[in-house]
Amino acid sequence: MTISLDRPVHTSTATSVSYRTLTPRQQDVFHRALEAAAEATNVWHIKDIHEFTAAALGLDLPHNDELVECSCEGCPDACDAIAPLSLCAEYLDGDTQRPQCPACADDHRVYID
Ligand SMILES: [Zn+2]
Ligand SMILES: [Zn+2]
Repeated sequence: MTISLDRPVHTSTATSVSYRTLTPRQQDVFHRALEAAAEATNVWHIKDIHEFTAAALGLDLPHNDELVECSCEGCPDACDAIAPLSLCAEYLDGDTQRPQCPACADDHRVYID
């Protein structure tokens, strides 16, 4: 027997969101979630935390992806986008890998070697 479920249709799921546009509650959830993810030792817990957080922020996060905040340098508008890591460009700042959100990477990609 085949059971078919109608999947809910999401018409307005974004792939990134500006931190500034979040409600205080969502900003609080975002920070607490990232702290929880930083303390989690099990990689699946970390992925779950990111997935739940994305849902709370109304973001479409690919499975097994992570949310990151854009840390673009030389950004004209001090970008604070939260986006899936897999869609971000990354650049090396010293020894640290920093993500640059898709919009920034398109517009003014940072290359540091
Ligand atoms: Zn930028
Ligand atoms: Zn950005």
